Amino acid sequence: MSKTTLKILMDLIKPFDPWEGTLCTCRNKYSLNPYTGCSHQCIYCYITSYIPKAFNCRPKKDLLGRVTKDLKKIDKKPISMSNSSDPYPPIERKLKQTRGVLKILSKKQHPTLIVTKSDIVVRDIDILREMPSVVMFSITTLGKTSTKLEPNAPSPQRRLEALVKLRKKNIPAGIRFDPLIPGISQDIEDVVISAKKAGALHITASTFKPRADSWKRFERTFPEIAQKTKRLYFEEGERIQGSRYLPKELRHRMLSQVRELVLENDMTFGVCREGLNLNTAGSCDGSHLL
Ligand code: SF4
Repeated sequence: MSKTTLKILMDLIKPFDPWEGTLCTCRNKYSLNPYTGCSHQCIYCYITSYIPKAFNCRPKKDLLGRVTKDLKKIDKKPISMSNSSDPYPPIERKLKQTRGVLKILSKKQHPTLIVTKSDIVVRDIDILREMPSVVMFSITTLGKTSTKLEPNAPSPQRRLEALVKLRKKNIPAGIRFDPLIPGISQDIEDVVISAKKAGALHITASTFKPRADSWKRFERTFPEIAQKTKRLYFEEGERIQGSRYLPKELRHRMLSQVRELVLENDMTFGVCREGLNLNTAGSCDGSHLL
């Protein structure tokens, strides 16, 4: 079945295809968002460019029934939760939408990749350890700046503690070290070493690729850094599919630095939508750990 046919047939579980991105190196997978929007309100988030009221997180209606129907139509390619929201926003504690989906996926033993900034995922260890799963925690910096960058997300330290708990139960896990931002990403070595200490097996990194709305938020929150780095994105960099990219040489330098540290610390490495040949594992996103 072609991706286009599947997109039409499926309700909530869709073929993963971010803007049909030419730079995406993900192996074929599906995408599922238990929530619409995300209340973590990260400054650099791209979902505000295509989801109305994106920072107002709301549950999907009849989620479990719709997921059950969709599952009958797809093969066993991994499902990624989530790419346009966090599957563990604060309301998940009460609503348990993501937990409900995991129970269904677990019964089918469907390979599942979770991407989150929240330690709520620890609650679901009982399910995750019984199914093919991998959890990737997003971290941009361990410093205080994270409270400005990701105002409503649990602290990076709590994410690392959650990673430790998952690894103690033998659940494969890693870090999405993104986005790297000139002027903000000052603690690269710290992040990589802390990830290793917490038990991370893989690190996926990428650079900030602002769109008009995320750049406005960035400029408002970090005016001095924005002023110093604006030309890198808007004059010297490239525009690719609606996003601004730092100059390729600079991205290569930043990501190679991370790669070197990751390999020194005996983890695997991948980059996300960079057009750079730096991956060392069977997947860029950690799905090879499934
Ligand atoms: S956690 Fe992810 S989806 Fe949610 S606001 Fe932050 S970057 Fe966006």
